[in-house]
Amino acid sequence: MKNLFLSRRRFLKTSFAGAAGITIGAKVSANSIKEVKTTGIITRRLGHTDLVLPIVSMGVMRSDMPNLVKAAYDSGIKHFDTAHGYMGGNNEIMLGNVFKDYPRDSFTIATKVHPDDINRQTGELGPGSTKESFLKKFNTSLERLQMDYVDILYHHGVGSRQALMYEPVLDALTTAKKEGKTRYIGLSTHRNEPEVIQAAIDSGVIDVILTTLNFKQQHHLQIKEKIALAAENGIGIVTMKTMAGAFLDREKTKPVNCKAALKWVLQDPNVHTSIPGITSFDMLAENLSVMEDLELTEEEIKDLQEAGLVAGLYCDGCSSCSALCRKHLPVHDIMRSYMYAYGYNDFKKAREVLDESGIGNDPCEDCESCTIVCTKNFNVAERIRDISRITNIPAEFLA
Ligand code: SF4
Ligand code: SF4
Repeated sequence: MKNLFLSRRRFLKTSFAGAAGITIGAKVSANSIKEVKTTGIITRRLGHTDLVLPIVSMGVMRSDMPNLVKAAYDSGIKHFDTAHGYMGGNNEIMLGNVFKDYPRDSFTIATKVHPDDINRQTGELGPGSTKESFLKKFNTSLERLQMDYVDILYHHGVGSRQALMYEPVLDALTTAKKEGKTRYIGLSTHRNEPEVIQAAIDSGVIDVILTTLNFKQQHHLQIKEKIALAAENGIGIVTMKTMAGAFLDREKTKPVNCKAALKWVLQDPNVHTSIPGITSFDMLAENLSVMEDLELTEEEIKDLQEAGLVAGLYCDGCSSCSALCRKHLPVHDIMRSYMYAYGYNDFKKAREVLDESGIGNDPCEDCESCTIVCTKNFNVAERIRDISRITNIPAEFLA
C-alpha cells in the first residue's frame, strides 16, 4: 500500500496548512469562502444555491430513530440526507413522519434515486434506465416523505461519465426541477470520483455534488482538485464516507478517530457541508462538537497518521481491479458491503448492497486463482468469500 503518511510534515503538506487552514494541492475557490460563524456554529453556502448550511449535516441512511433526527434538528443540524432505497423506503417514511409538523423552510431534505439497468462493473447505464422509471421512483419518494418537493434530488451512485451524461436520466432530473418537485439537482458518487465530478461540471446543469472524501483515499488529492474546480463553477459540495470505514480491522479493535477524520475533510473550504452517518446520541454529540471547531489537536493528527499506515476496511472504488477479475465481479461494491458489515456493523446494509450487485453466495466458486492485485493490498478473494456468505441468511435475521 502506498504510504500517505510517511511523516507529519508530508501529512500537513498533502492535507492542510497548519493554522491558516488552507488546503495545499487543491485550489481554494473564491466562491466557497463564504463562511459564517454565528452562535458558534460554522455555516457555508452550498455553491450557487440559496442554502446556507451548518458544516455538519446528518446522513440518515442507517438511522431508524425519529428521536435522534429530532435531537439533531434541535441541536442545529438542518440538512438531512436520505435515499429512495434506504431501508427499503422506510428511511424516507420515518423522515416524512418526523418533519410533517415542522415549518418546511426550517430544514433541508435531500434524497437520491438509482436509475434501473446499471452495469455494476463499468458503472454505465443501459436502455432500461428510462426517464419514466426514474421519475416514478422519485414520485414515490415524495409520497413517503409527505412533501411536495425536496431541496436536492440526486442521481444516486454515479460511477462513470457515461452514466452522468445519460440523456433520459439527465432529462428526468431537469424535468423534476422545472416542475418544482426539487429545488436543486445533483449526483452522488463513490467511485471514479474525479471523472464523475469533471462530467458534472461539463454537464452545466448540476447544482450539487455529493462525493466520498476521506484521509484514507489514495486519490484524495485528485478528488480535492476536482472539488475545487466544481466549487469555482458554483456547484455545491457535500461529502460522505468521511469516517473511512469507522474501523481499521474486521475484529473492530482499531477504531478510526472519526471526529478527527471529519475535521480533516471540513478543513477544505471547498467542502460546504458533510453528511456523516449518525446512528446514536453519542455519535450526534461527537459530530456536533465539530460544527464549532475544526482545529485538529496533536493527538488527532497522530491518530490520522497512524491510521494512514494500515490498509483498513475502506475501498477506494478506484475500479482498477474489476477489469482484472476473471468473472468481472463488481469488486468495489462487494468491498463496500464488507465495510458496512465489519466497519459499521450494519449487516443489513451490507446485504442490501450485495443484493443490488446481483452476486450469489459464492461468486468466486470455480475460479482457480485470484488475478486481482488491489492497490490497497486487500486480499480481495478472501473478503469476497467472507462477506458473500451473508446472502445465505434471511434478510430479517440480519441487524
Ligand atoms: S478469485 Fe474471485 S475476485 Fe479473484 S479473480 Fe477469481 S472471481 Fe475474481
Ligand atoms: S478493492 Fe482495491 S483495487 Fe479494487 S477498487 Fe477497492 S481499493 Fe481499488
